[in-house]
Amino acid sequence: MWNKDKIRFGMVIDLDKCTGCGACSVACMSENNIGVLHDETDKIRSITWLRVYQIDNGKSFPDTEVAFIPRPCMHCQGGKSGTPGQAFFQEDPLVDAEAHPPCVSVCPATATDYDEETGIVSQIPTRCIGCRYCVAACPYHARYFNWYDVPWPKGTPRALSPFVSPRMRGVVEKCTFCYQRYQRARNKALVDGSEVGEMDYQTACTEACPSGAITFGQLQNPEHKVHKLISSEHTFRLLESLHTDPKVYYMSKREWVRKMADNYVTRHKKLAKAAAGGGH
Ligand code: SF4
Ligand code: SF4
Repeated sequence: MWNKDKIRFGMVIDLDKCTGCGACSVACMSENNIGVLHDETDKIRSITWLRVYQIDNGKSFPDTEVAFIPRPCMHCQGGKSGTPGQAFFQEDPLVDAEAHPPCVSVCPATATDYDEETGIVSQIPTRCIGCRYCVAACPYHARYFNWYDVPWPKGTPRALSPFVSPRMRGVVEKCTFCYQRYQRARNKALVDGSEVGEMDYQTACTEACPSGAITFGQLQNPEHKVHKLISSEHTFRLLESLHTDPKVYYMSKREWVRKMADNYVTRHKKLAKAAAGGGH
C-alpha cells in the first residue's frame, strides 16, 4: 500500500545494461563537488561516491563473462527484518521509528541521519568529528574519509556547483541521492502549488547513464518506474541477508550475477520451501 506521506526514494540499476563506462561516477563527482586527488591510484584514499566494480563468472576464455556493479550509498532502511527476495516497501508502510541504517546508529555526532520525509540517509560534514565509526559500520564500503584537502587547480573553485558545499579534510562523505536536487524540486513544487513529479527529481548518475541502466524514483508510488521494476523476479539487493534493507536494487537476468549478491541462496531456499508447501 502506498502512503503519500512516506515517500521512499530508491534506485534500480540494470546490470545487464551497464557497460562499466563510468559516466555515472563522473556525473556524480561533477554534481557533488568531489575533487580529484594528487594520486588517484591510491584507491583506499580516493573518493568516488558512486564506484563501479567489475565482477566475472570465474570461467576461463572463451566462457568468461563480466558484469559491472555501480555502487552508490544504499540508503539502508535497517531496523526491520524485511523479507529477503520481496520488496517490503510494497507490503508494509514503514514505521519510521524502526529505521536505523548501520551508519546512522553508530554516529556519535548525529552527522549522518535518516530523513523521515524521503528515506534518504543524509551526511552533514560540518558536524562530523572524523571518528570513522560509520565507515566501519557500513557493509557496502559506501563512505569515504577525507584524508586530504582537495587540491583544486587554480580557477576551478569558480566552476563548482553552488548547491553542494565542498568538504574539508578530516570528515566523512557519501552519496546523498543528490539531495540538493530534491530540495530544488520540492521548493519549486511548493511555489507552483504542485507535487514533485517523477522527472522533477532525478539523480545526476541516472541522467548521465548513456545506456539507461539506472532508474530512480519513489519505490512505493505505483506510477513510478522503480515501483514496477522492484517486483521483477530478476531484481535483488546486495547483502540482503544482513537485513540492511537497501533502497538501491539491482537487476540481472544472469544467474551468476544474482548469485554474487548473496540473497540468492536465501531467496531460492524460501521459494523451494514455499513450492513444497512449507509456507515461509
Ligand atoms: S566519522 Fe563523522 S559521520 Fe562518521 S560516525 Fe564519526 S562523526 Fe559521525
Ligand atoms: S550503511 Fe552504508 S550503504 Fe547503508 S545507508 Fe549507511 S552509508 Fe549508505
